[in-house]
Amino acid sequence: MSPVAAPSAICPDLQSFLANKAHLLLVDGQRKEASNGKIFETFNPATGETIARVAEATAQDVDAAVKSARKALEGPWSKLSPAERERLLNKLADLVEAHAEELAQLETLNNGKTIRESKNGDLPLAVSLLRYFAGWPTKIHGETIPVSVPYYPGAKFLHYTVREPIGVVGAIIPWNFPLLMAVERLAPVLACGNALVLKPAEQTPLSALRLGELALEAGIPPGVVNVVPGDGPSAGAALAAHPDVDKITFTGSTEVGREIVKASAGNLKKLSLELGGKSPNIVFADADLDAAAKGMFMGIFYNQGQCCSAGSRVFVEKSKFDDLVGALVERAKTVRQGPGLDPKTQMGPLVSKEQKERVLGYVAAGKKEGAKLLCGGEELPGGGYFVKPTVFSDVRDSMKIAREEIFGPVLTVMPFESADEVVTRANSTDYGLVAGVWTKDVKKAHMMAQSLKAGTVWINCYHFVDAAAPWGGYKQSGYGREKSQYAVDLYTQLKSVWVDLN
Ligand code: NAP
Ligand code: MG
Repeated sequence: MSPVAAPSAICPDLQSFLANKAHLLLVDGQRKEASNGKIFETFNPATGETIARVAEATAQDVDAAVKSARKALEGPWSKLSPAERERLLNKLADLVEAHAEELAQLETLNNGKTIRESKNGDLPLAVSLLRYFAGWPTKIHGETIPVSVPYYPGAKFLHYTVREPIGVVGAIIPWNFPLLMAVERLAPVLACGNALVLKPAEQTPLSALRLGELALEAGIPPGVVNVVPGDGPSAGAALAAHPDVDKITFTGSTEVGREIVKASAGNLKKLSLELGGKSPNIVFADADLDAAAKGMFMGIFYNQGQCCSAGSRVFVEKSKFDDLVGALVERAKTVRQGPGLDPKTQMGPLVSKEQKERVLGYVAAGKKEGAKLLCGGEELPGGGYFVKPTVFSDVRDSMKIAREEIFGPVLTVMPFESADEVVTRANSTDYGLVAGVWTKDVKKAHMMAQSLKAGTVWINCYHFVDAAAPWGGYKQSGYGREKSQYAVDLYTQLKSVWVDLN
């Protein structure tokens, strides 16, 4: 494995950001220490070395952030016209684009993902999300509805609806796409006229803090975007339970999702939840097998398998099983792993030591339950949190590795014999985020799309997302649809106005 990129390989903007002694909270447009002065360290997962020290928000800091969001909401922010909100979001998109190199390097340094993925995936998507939602403020409107009042025949009323912001939105996000998740929340939240308190994941706080700075530079009024890095059970829980937060948008584990639901009960805050999956990627014998092989590979190994939409259960029609799985395993064995900042690296480390151990725990469980390890299954020696791309066959649907979200580069491959059989098996999970189908038969493809219980079905492709396409899950993969026009429903509320014309 090559050594971590020398500091000279890091662009000057990032060097100056990292040289910042301590990365403080962003509350009311000001950088602030935590109320108890506490800091935590954040690491480069390729080496395990500390890259920065970050203030750790307490419940008191979260409260201050919520107050500042409320003040901004009731003050300058609500006075801006939709066109002015649009201009500010476009300005932020321009700034993110202008700082793309710096942000991509920061994302890779803190999360571990390859620089190619940061540059070609996370950054362009972040910019396009900002631009897409920048277009919304001037298009969010109500309707006039022809009403008839059965108990008042002949009466005339004007009835119209108004879409208003929900208020203070708390966003609790994970570490797998730190900047992208932050932007995916900030863009619609602000487009709809709300104010934001963002709690990034403890593993990856840096790009969210940088985004907060850029939001201020773009001219978004202080207090509209607050960033409070900290620990889930303290800062996150304080935000989820806060009586003056109107809505929580959460992405992460199903387990914490349930905690958020409970915490929201106090003031019955609105919720949207995106909770991961155990997604089937189904290859029929009549598929373009080269394309399917690439889709199976990328479906599980993109971002080291740390994707809520990872295609972690591959089903291959029996007649092609040995060929396709053989090719997949050969490819997995040749993947070049190393620090994400090295442009030659094809797969980076997992985000943390804890995640590496969790993933290796699943590998051990797979072996114990009798699955056959075809490749990988171990960490790389020499520091950093690298796990080799891992493929298991001889997997039963009931095994732990076939049921639980592993969130790492671990794939289970299983043969099937008929479409009906594979639909039943694919759907027999508590999750329902995405599914992949590979076939040249148009009728079969659409029948599968109708039968699979998933929020997104990819046909002859995998892992495609866009600002305009709704994103969210069936079953225990969550509530609500982020991105797209449907995010406008998530971040606004509808008022019904009656005017007596009699
Ligand atoms: P997690 O605990 O669900 O973390 C997600 C976010 O929730 C983080 O910001 C976390 O803060 C916060 N949080 C944790 N406990 C909280 C609480 N009681 N109240 C409010 N917020 C809380 O996920 P994780 O521990 O990072 O990863 C564990 C597993 O979750 C993964 O292996 C994977 O299976 C799943 N996961 C899914 C997704 C997804 O995209 N669907 C993303 C990440 C993880 P801290 O960072 O301080 O914990
Ligand atoms: Mg955690």
